[in-house]
Amino acid sequence: MHEEKAQQKKQQEYELLEELGRGRFGTVFRCFHKTSNKFHAAKLIDKRLLTDSTDRQCIEIEPKVMTFLSPHPNILQIIDAFDDSDFSSIVLELCHPSTLLDRIADGAFSEAHACWVMRQLLEAVAHCHRVGVAHRDIKPDNVLFDWENHVKLSDFGSAEWLGEGGSMSGVVGTPCYVAPEVVLGREYSEKVDVWSCGVVLYTMLAGVPPFYGDSAVDIFEAVVRANLRFPTRIFRSVSSSVKDLIKKMICRDPSGRISAEQALRHPWILNGGD
Ligand code: AMP
Repeated sequence: MHEEKAQQKKQQEYELLEELGRGRFGTVFRCFHKTSNKFHAAKLIDKRLLTDSTDRQCIEIEPKVMTFLSPHPNILQIIDAFDDSDFSSIVLELCHPSTLLDRIADGAFSEAHACWVMRQLLEAVAHCHRVGVAHRDIKPDNVLFDWENHVKLSDFGSAEWLGEGGSMSGVVGTPCYVAPEVVLGREYSEKVDVWSCGVVLYTMLAGVPPFYGDSAVDIFEAVVRANLRFPTRIFRSVSSSVKDLIKKMICRDPSGRISAEQALRHPWILNGGD
């Protein structure tokens, strides 16, 4: 009862403002913290809509993982978390409303711009892997920008702790960005995040992902074939250095795929996409 009152009190410190977006489980609102006079984002998850234990696990893991990973300049900062019988709420640092997905929809990126985003995304992913967390749903929708335009990796609802040996199982992720070993139902490692980052890099430069189809099944088939191509009409003026990095990230065999740390040391990243 005491705990419930404390949670209620915390909740009352925030005033919910307009909706910013919707994710798999929750709705994100801009909010105002009355005590500090600061604006944040609040993600509200209606627990009554969670249908199974996997969904419940997702909403439980997100605040735990985010707290564990904080602070990192390229990982969305968690500010508070509270719960009542119907809603689970997470208060987050407020970011710009347009995600990387919106920015790609506005037009393909120059190599320098793509490099600037990718370096920060890889910094976030390398940090996760160093401390034993896999994100497992890296995609442009989950890449946010703060008001100074720094990359902030978000949505840790599919994240998993890397146990001893670092292997995981379970089909999670988003069709265009998921690694083939996940689709095939195999045990997999944190390298699934590097695959997804490679797909994000390709998508920033081409404006479209490398593997797609009309249905999820068609996309999964294309992912498993992993027939990576760089059509001349799109990649004519793209450097061989970035193609080399993409090939090393979108490598079908996870043991031959580079790590996030290695990707950060690739010459294309070190040279700022030049
Ligand atoms: P999510 O449930 O984390 O996937 O978030 C759903 C959508 O809400 C995102 O695609 C963003 O458009 C928006 N959003 C999430 N977190 C924030 C934030 N911290 N600041 C601003 N917008 C956000």
